[in-house]
Amino acid sequence: MSTLRMFFGLLVTATVLATLNITSAAAADQAEAPKAVTKQTPSDPLVDVRRGTIPIIICSPHGGKEVVPDVPPRKNRPVTPKKGDPKWVTGTDVNTRELAQELVADLEKRLGGKPYYVMARFQRKFIDANRAPEHSYEVPEAKFYYDAYHDTIAEYCREVQKKFGTGLVIDVHGQASFKDEILIGTFGGTTVRLLVERFGRGALVGKEGLVGIMLDAGTKVKPDLNSETFDVAAGLNGGYTVQTYGSSRPTALEAVQFEYGSNYRKAENIVDSARKTADGVAKFYEAYIVKKKPAAKPSAAKASVEP
Ligand SMILES: [Zn+2]
Repeated sequence: MSTLRMFFGLLVTATVLATLNITSAAAADQAEAPKAVTKQTPSDPLVDVRRGTIPIIICSPHGGKEVVPDVPPRKNRPVTPKKGDPKWVTGTDVNTRELAQELVADLEKRLGGKPYYVMARFQRKFIDANRAPEHSYEVPEAKFYYDAYHDTIAEYCREVQKKFGTGLVIDVHGQASFKDEILIGTFGGTTVRLLVERFGRGALVGKEGLVGIMLDAGTKVKPDLNSETFDVAAGLNGGYTVQTYGSSRPTALEAVQFEYGSNYRKAENIVDSARKTADGVAKFYEAYIVKKKPAAKPSAAKASVEP
């Protein structure tokens, strides 16, 4: 009998304790509900961005060094592979983010206004920001970072177009096939379609055009001066970003991909590479992007009122 009473006694105690337990757990749950129940959206998109004051947008998709939380390294295959898919590359374009940062600072000094910029801090082995989404990442968790990069570029392009009616997008990359050259990729001229329509092909490959100006600034570039073709080298002719935001698209901005040879990207050469590039880009920008109307000559004005 006493054993039975003891059993019931213990049962009641256990029930009370369990109830108390549930109550305190529920209170705790309530306090931390968002954390415990939903998976948190990452707070850091691992992309550095800045809104500018002049119509130049500098992008750097492949120079990031950071690991992406909850995103495994890419296995290097699209979710649904198709013939003609772009080559999947996971290697970093070494020192391109640093070079792009220097370029922004140099252009700011030369032009007296701030270029816009969008630079990935995430490593390319997790997300390739210079590809269409289906060729860029393999897990849904990566979308947040990819979208942060491209949504910002798209927003800045729209803003630049609306504010200035013109603009220049420079996508900064690195290659090792032509160590002492900067390859200027325009996807066969497509990404600078309006530039060529307005000023002729010389605006790109002529002595007074981007190629000539970059040569004067002390860099070696491709295409060659007065080249018959705008192509530079297979796989380096201008990728997703310049094709998406270039002037064959509604953004109507001119877009060029700068593929820096490895010697331009050596740590000790970055400052010089950026300085030379800024020299050339600033001249090109003033000659073609924000070309000012020549001031009306006083004599011409006078002549108009004379018989
Ligand atoms: Zn690249």
